[in-house]
Amino acid sequence: MSTRILVVEDEEKLARFTELELIHEGYTVEKAMDGRTALEMASTREYDLILLDIMLPGLNGLEVLRRLGPDYDVPVILLTARDAVMDKVAGLDAGAVDYITKPFAIEELLARIRVALKQHNKQITVDNTQSLATGKVEDGVYVWNGLKLEEKKRRVTYNNQEISLTNREFLMLETLLQNMDIVLSRDTLLEKVCGYDYVGETNVVDVYVRFLRSKIDDVFGVKMIQTVRGVGYVIKSE
Ligand code: CA
Repeated sequence: MSTRILVVEDEEKLARFTELELIHEGYTVEKAMDGRTALEMASTREYDLILLDIMLPGLNGLEVLRRLGPDYDVPVILLTARDAVMDKVAGLDAGAVDYITKPFAIEELLARIRVALKQHNKQITVDNTQSLATGKVEDGVYVWNGLKLEEKKRRVTYNNQEISLTNREFLMLETLLQNMDIVLSRDTLLEKVCGYDYVGETNVVDVYVRFLRSKIDDVFGVKMIQTVRGVGYVIKSE
């Protein structure tokens, strides 16, 4: 299903232009021309994001935002014609995730929309998996999305479901998580997993990556360990 955006803008030309650009990007767009209609639509229909002009007839954008309340979960980006600092502060206080000053370049608006959607989706993922964050969350505990590796307990879980790993698989995963976002060469991984004096094929690293993927990626539908062609492997934090 395509991402649904509500555009709240009383300047007809700008509303139409924004709508066409968003449709061109593959979004589904609905429009409201005044504050009351916007509030009604936002409260009764489902959107993934709202672009909300501040200067509107009827209720202004800030009032719409306030009336939607603190529990309203759809990311709102404010559009403001003035470079009014107070409006921005009030808007962010009222729960907007971002604002953009008119006139804006459409590329900037699209970029901000992408960021807002991405952050919102990440928030949902974090809520669902109850993980604290991706990365090292405490001493000896590493988290990547729903996956958690605890060094002391020598335990790996995904959404609290235990994953049984061999010693070398565990070492490999541990090394990659300890070096999150850093591409590790096969040699580095080999040394860590098989020991400094290992004599043999470096493709054993590929074999362990394959084992890990079959136990984690394939089971939980994720893409955790990424191959960097000609270099090695990495687990990226996002
Ligand atoms: Ca306006």
